[in-house]
Amino acid sequence: MDEISLRPHHILCIRFFEGKGYSSDFTKHMAETIERLREPGKYVMLVDEEDEICRKCPNCLKDGCSQREKVLQYDAGVLRMLDVPYGERMEFRRLWELAEQKIMAAGRFPGICGDCEWASVCHKKEGGPAGN
Ligand code: SF4
Ligand code: SF4
Repeated sequence: MDEISLRPHHILCIRFFEGKGYSSDFTKHMAETIERLREPGKYVMLVDEEDEICRKCPNCLKDGCSQREKVLQYDAGVLRMLDVPYGERMEFRRLWELAEQKIMAAGRFPGICGDCEWASVCHKKEGGPAGN
């Protein structure tokens, strides 16, 4: 099956992505990955390690993400709120809808990643989806 690996909290980063990021390589790859994810019927697998988006991130070092502790907490928060486990495979659209219902509409987004360095971008505009 043609699927894309995704850290759980990246569904939120995707939602709020507006072309900013850690480097030009990173933002270009992220934009391309989001396009791929939006293709009809595209599946994702939720992983507890570096994923497709991490591949071009300057924080992705030989031994993994330099922000590992923080991002694992974000991932755990998303999994708990969506009530799905690592290793889950599902259509990207289904994951998007789950996050909309169980996190965004439920007002639970502020509790997940408020200490992220990009919080000033994402948390100030949590009112409406950036796309999809
Ligand atoms: S604040 Fe950080 S972790 Fe949260 S959605 Fe934005 S980029 Fe992702
Ligand atoms: S900061 Fe870590 S989790 Fe986020 S994209 Fe970079 S390597 Fe991946």
